[in-house]
Amino acid sequence: MSLRIGLTGGIGSGKSTVAGLFASYGASVLDMDAICHELLAPGGPCVAAVQAALGDRLPVCKGAPDRGALRALIFQDAECRKQLEAILHPAAYASLEQRLQQQTTTSYYVLVIPLLVETGAQERVDRVLVVDCPRELQLQRVMQREGLDRALVERIWAAQLRPEQRLARADDCITNTGSLAQLEARVQQLHQRYLQMSRVTA
Ligand code: ATP
Repeated sequence: MSLRIGLTGGIGSGKSTVAGLFASYGASVLDMDAICHELLAPGGPCVAAVQAALGDRLPVCKGAPDRGALRALIFQDAECRKQLEAILHPAAYASLEQRLQQQTTTSYYVLVIPLLVETGAQERVDRVLVVDCPRELQLQRVMQREGLDRALVERIWAAQLRPEQRLARADDCITNTGSLAQLEARVQQLHQRYLQMSRVTA
C-alpha cells in the first residue's frame, strides 16, 4: 500500500499552500475540505440530512447550505457543530477511502485533514505532518486572505486542538513562520524523505 501522509494544522497555518507544493512535486493530494464541500454542494449527498438536522437555523442558498453562514452557525453553537460533524465526518472519510481505492500513485499520498487529530484519524495514515504557526500569524493570514474577524477565528480555535496538543501527535512538523521560499525548501526536503520512504515500503 502506498505511503499516506496526513497533513494537518490549525486554521490559516498554511495547509493548502503546503499541499499545493507537495502536488507540484508529484505527490497525490486529497483534501477533506474539498470533499466536505462536494458533500454539501447543491444536490450533494449530505445536503438533505444536514438540512433536516439543523432546520431553520441553517440559511440555504441555491439549494445548498450557505458556507459562510454555516461556518458562523457551527462555531457559535457547539450542539449544531456536533450534529453537522456526526453527518459529515463519516461520509467524508468514506468518500476519502473510496477515492484512495480508485486511485494509484507513483509516489505517495498527502491527505489534507484539518481535524485529523481531533477526529482520531491517525490510524488512517502512516505519518502525521503538522503545519505549525503562531496563532497571531494565523489570524493575520486569514484576515488578509478572506477578511475573517478575530471573534470568529477565536471561536474556531476553541473548537480545534491547541497547537501544542497537535504537535504532540506529529511525526513531522513544518514551522511556517518564514517566507514562501523557506516554506518551499522545507516541503522539498520532506518530499525527498517521503519518496525515499515510499521506495522502502513499496
Ligand atoms: P484553512 O485552515 O483556512 O484552510 P490553511 O491552513 O489551508 O487555511 P493557507 O490557505 O495555505 O492555510 O494559508 C493561509 C494564508 O496564508 C494564505 O493566503 C496563504 O497564501 C498565506 N501563507 C501561507 N504560508 C505563507 C508564508 N510562509 N508566507 C506568506 N503567506 C503565507
